[in-house]
Amino acid sequence: MDLFEYQAKELFAEYGVPIPRGKVAASAAEARQIAEEFAAGNAGAKPLVVIKAQVKTGGRGKAGGVKLADTPDEAEDKAAAILGMDIKGHTVHTVLVAEDTDIAQEYYLSFLVDRAERTFLSMCSVEGGVEIEEVARTHPEALAKIPVSPLTGVDRAKALEIVRAGGLPVEAQEGAAQLAERLWAVFTDEDATLVEVNPLVYTGDGRVVALDAKVTLDDNAAFRQEWGSFADPAAVDPLEARAKARHLNYVKLDGAVGIIGNGAGLVMSTLDVVAYAGEEFGGVRPANFLDIGGGASAEVMANGLDIVLSDPSVRSVLVNVFGGITSCDAVANGIVSAMALLADRGEPVRHPIVVRLDGNNAAQGRAILAEANLPLVEQVATMDDAARRAAELAAAAVNGA
Ligand code: GDP
Ligand code: MN
Repeated sequence: MDLFEYQAKELFAEYGVPIPRGKVAASAAEARQIAEEFAAGNAGAKPLVVIKAQVKTGGRGKAGGVKLADTPDEAEDKAAAILGMDIKGHTVHTVLVAEDTDIAQEYYLSFLVDRAERTFLSMCSVEGGVEIEEVARTHPEALAKIPVSPLTGVDRAKALEIVRAGGLPVEAQEGAAQLAERLWAVFTDEDATLVEVNPLVYTGDGRVVALDAKVTLDDNAAFRQEWGSFADPAAVDPLEARAKARHLNYVKLDGAVGIIGNGAGLVMSTLDVVAYAGEEFGGVRPANFLDIGGGASAEVMANGLDIVLSDPSVRSVLVNVFGGITSCDAVANGIVSAMALLADRGEPVRHPIVVRLDGNNAAQGRAILAEANLPLVEQVATMDDAARRAAELAAAAVNGA
């Protein structure tokens, strides 16, 4: 889960990472009010505040999503200009109104998981404020990459090593090292996979402050963290949420064939086979996939079909099961009861379902489906042929619609 800048800065503040004072506004009037509060405590310094678009993407500055304002009036105008803006496909719903910082120099500092090296990594550069990929490309020597051992972490000595390697000037090193130590605490204690500060700023009065904040939290750690307030319900696909509540792995894609399989490996290869078969029919692709896992019961199968069929872009469904622990008769019973359940609910299935059953109790499973004689269910013996048929049916529905 990615956080908004203001949320990341709330975390920073909890851990003593210095940030400029600021508040979130959802309207221009609110932004004005916040600016007025800051103006009351400040002797007319200019600029007064910075107004920053809150969207989960970088490059807001370049896109016009970061603006300075000298007065509350101006804060209101600039907020009005930024709210509703589209930045790389993200609509701006809120702005952060923060006290202006007197920037002397802009640096870069981050901690992340280095998957290739199976360790943590810190990156630091005296050349911040610009896109770090740009620095890495044009003069890689200006971007220090320092591995951090999970066993020893970041103490003062390590933090100093990092900021010196990044080439930060002597006068900024103490403050930056202290900030780096605290940032490391955010990274580890909050189970983040990334904390990035760009720019890390050295101010006119000699302080080191995090002017921007990017944090990615590791969703796998949600059970042991209290991130409730960070949840962004608007960003979660409702079907993914429904699947999660039933402990099913469902992922939305952008094609027309719904896919249900058992086991991640089989599901992944089914996606490939469908995409391949779909080329013959004008590029039909998977609409989603759902893994019913090992040992799936009839109920799990029914839940799975319900979710996959609720996706409005689905035109056909491919159920591809290789029975191991899962037995094919349970899967077949699940399909039959899912059809009845959905009809009872007044949402009868309208799309064709291609089923390929193999492995444990395949003969019994096929017999159950044959006997049920469901008009929309079609059995195909092999994975390749089943994928081809599902793609063909989806293409026919798309073209006929
Ligand atoms: P990003 O473009 O999405 O990474 O947004 P940033 O928060 O990094 O802001 C972009 C740039 O705006 C920074 O590199 C700064 O140069 C500038 N900026 C941000 N906050 C302030 C501020 O408080 N005062 C001033 N003068 N400039 C700021
Ligand atoms: Mn930035």
